[in-house]
Amino acid sequence: MPPKFSKEFKIQLVSGQKPIRQHRTSPCEANCPAGNPIQAMENHLKEGRRDEAHALLLTRNPFPGVTGRVCPHPCEQNCNRNRYDEGLAVRSLERFAADSNGVAPLRPGAPTGKHLAVIGSGPAGMTCAYFAALLGHRVSVFESAPVLGGVPRTAVPDFRLPKGVVDRETGNILALGIEAYINTVVGKHIGIEQIMQDHDACVVAVGNWTERRLNIPGAERARPAVAFLKESNLSRPDFTGLKVLVIGGGGVAFDCAFTARRLGAAAVSLLFPEDAEHIKAPAEEVAQARREGLVLHASRLARRIDERGVEAVKLESFAFDEKGELEAKTIEDDVLQEPADVVICASGLQPALDFLAPLNPARTPRGHLVVDSDMATSVPGLFAAGDIVDGPGTVAAAIGSGRRTALGLHSRLMDLPDRLMVQVDAERRLVVSGVSPDGQAHVVDFSEISNPGYHEKAPRRESRQAQASSLPFSEIDAGFDAEAAQAEAGRCLHCGHCINCGTCVERCPGYILVKDEQEGPFVEYPDECWHCGCCRIGCPTGAISIEFPITMRV
Ligand SMILES: Cc1cc2nc3c(=O)[nH]c(=O)nc-3n(C[C@H](O)[C@H](O)[C@H](O)COP(=O)(O)OP(=O)(O)OC[C@H]3O[C@@H](n4cnc5c(N)ncnc54)[C@H](O)[C@@H]3O)c2cc1C
Ligand code: SF4
Ligand code: SF4
Ligand code: SF4
Repeated sequence: MPPKFSKEFKIQLVSGQKPIRQHRTSPCEANCPAGNPIQAMENHLKEGRRDEAHALLLTRNPFPGVTGRVCPHPCEQNCNRNRYDEGLAVRSLERFAADSNGVAPLRPGAPTGKHLAVIGSGPAGMTCAYFAALLGHRVSVFESAPVLGGVPRTAVPDFRLPKGVVDRETGNILALGIEAYINTVVGKHIGIEQIMQDHDACVVAVGNWTERRLNIPGAERARPAVAFLKESNLSRPDFTGLKVLVIGGGGVAFDCAFTARRLGAAAVSLLFPEDAEHIKAPAEEVAQARREGLVLHASRLARRIDERGVEAVKLESFAFDEKGELEAKTIEDDVLQEPADVVICASGLQPALDFLAPLNPARTPRGHLVVDSDMATSVPGLFAAGDIVDGPGTVAAAIGSGRRTALGLHSRLMDLPDRLMVQVDAERRLVVSGVSPDGQAHVVDFSEISNPGYHEKAPRRESRQAQASSLPFSEIDAGFDAEAAQAEAGRCLHCGHCINCGTCVERCPGYILVKDEQEGPFVEYPDECWHCGCCRIGCPTGAISIEFPITMRV
């Protein structure tokens, strides 16, 4: 077989077709739970096309301004450029693209006559509503809180995610004609059976909101973490001079600790079961904790809370069972007595699905909803998305889940096959153009990029930090300016995506390849291929595959 080129589609794809044309992809894209088209976004930014980069992101993710700020960026951890010099600052680039103003929004398709209910307006519910509306369905969202946006709007602190960013992106989704009912608790103000009766399908996207309580003496003295964050977002209680201890080592616990410092606490410490090498919170939050003078007590298990503070024992090892209960081996004579005026407990969130009792859908041992490949639950017409399916996760994962649910229910409601190929037409409407082949694109490892020297070595650009004399509630990260964004995007190796550089054409000794300015290189004389591999060795992106066995012509 002569070389096969992996080429980007010129059309914008919402789902499908990867293995045919773009049969190779980059590890960043393979590891983005939202499914962002990262490489093509970076290509636009490199050329200064910020609005196009934003428009492209909106074909997969209606919340790029949110994920561009708070996603723990598994794309960056997996970026091939980490093995060349330093990985790309993908999240900051996503944020830079998302904060452009001139983007052309996607438009809703022809009405299907179907009416969908979505319960919960977090990233999963709103993403599902967005794609369902774009596919032509009428959508009504039911939300118990007084505002739309779920955890990112009500619990994530402003210094990481300003509320205006969530409101802007939620507003763009509502502009598609979605009806939203706030202050409406399903199970209290309206029953699930009524919703099922009034709609053609219903999506449960309620997240996990029941805070776990510790089973230790004095547990009632601890404030639940998410309730504390919600209160602080609304009313900024005064903690001046207080000593605060947070139990927990994940992102929620660190948010509580940073918030307590900003409320005036004199000293803040965290106590968690993980050892110092395996803290659950993202590395940059651990670094921020050190910068802000927080004290971290690793490998500790709280065993009593009283008026003096918290008593904690050292842990030798621990694990969680299938129901999420902690099983721990302790070192009983190694005891820490940590003084505290306020104790905050961030030890996990659980589902609250009492309102589904009349339908009794199948649930996992941890109480989450069981779904099939179309995100349908065991109850006909009832679908689910986000954390209520996967357990506490990330915003990006909830977005990917919401998109899959919209496509799955569209297939079911419209009696279409699975694996829909959905693309954006010239009028920026979604069109279903067929069925995609089964299979995944091959993820290109750095070792498969034979000519990395084509790309100049250059240090990673970091986004700016806001200047402040005291710890502010305003956003800490100030993002990229245009020059830094363009330079950083220009560092992308475009792993597995042809950039039409022409090196393969130049290096082919048999002159069997030809370069088309629009479509890139192609094999003009397949019978003349020597299978020498010069094209593949010269390619700076790993976009060429040569399939074995090959038949050499002599
Ligand atoms: C404090 C905190 C900080 C976090 N920080 C990050 C972060 O930095 N990065 C990251 O990627 N992830 C973070 N996460 C996780 C992330 O926010 C969640 O994974 C994500 O929001 C899940 O989205 P969802 O749409 O499934 O649910 P949610 O965002 O929880 O939204 C569910 C919505 O359903 C509503 N609802 C619930 N029950 C009912 C009912 N009966 N009737 C009507 N409405 C109902 C709720 O009010 C809520 O608005 C954080 C989580 C918390 C708690
Ligand atoms: S959503 Fe997260 S993983 Fe995806 S591109 Fe953005 S930062 Fe990376
Ligand atoms: S170099 Fe570019 S395409 Fe390759 S993994 Fe990193 S961000 Fe993705
Ligand atoms: S060498 Fe250049 S033109 Fe040829 S496949 Fe690789 S990126 Fe595309």
